[in-house]
Amino acid sequence: MCDTPAFMIFEDSRPFYLCKNCGLIFTDCYLTLEEIKHHYQSQHTNSFDWNEKAKELLEVVSFAVTPRKIFDFGSGAGFLADAFRSMGLEVDNYEPMLHGVFRTGIYNNSYDLVILNEVIEHAEDVKKMFDNVYSLTRRGGIILISTLMTDKLINESDRFQEHFKNWWYKDDPTHISFFCQLTFEYLCEMKNSYSLQMLAAGPNGIILQRW
Ligand SMILES: [Zn+2]
Repeated sequence: MCDTPAFMIFEDSRPFYLCKNCGLIFTDCYLTLEEIKHHYQSQHTNSFDWNEKAKELLEVVSFAVTPRKIFDFGSGAGFLADAFRSMGLEVDNYEPMLHGVFRTGIYNNSYDLVILNEVIEHAEDVKKMFDNVYSLTRRGGIILISTLMTDKLINESDRFQEHFKNWWYKDDPTHISFFCQLTFEYLCEMKNSYSLQMLAAGPNGIILQRW
């Protein structure tokens, strides 16, 4: 993401690298589109309570925003977007598997809340995805990113290898990028690209505000 040479920290079926500059852990071992499709089709997501999930996500950001317009970035089959719509909210969504390459310019700078619900760990090009997400968000708007963060693993550095080896999240073959708080701090520091501040960080993700 930051063009700093990274070094390999672990290898089993895939090699994983850590960037000491921004704290991103990633692998360059990507699945083909066919493999990704097959992977998603083997997962049954429609039995999940998406209405409950939508409520939960709104609750998480309620200290910062009461959104009217939401963008669901990486929306999968669209269950979460539909759940928000059923609550009377204005929602647009984008899913690369269905909609192809993201086209900027149509929806720019207009969303109160942009959600990446378990999406960013699938990103091959984090910076590019983030550029798109940022372009959607209005000034003062919120970006909610839910992903399992690596802080707990990294902070216990003498047992990092062991913890990482046993971390189930990295074993999903569609997961290729893993974040810690430092990675998002790094994004917030890219002042030529973004005006962002971090509002909250936890083990399950991060809340950013564009200003
Ligand atoms: Zn980096």
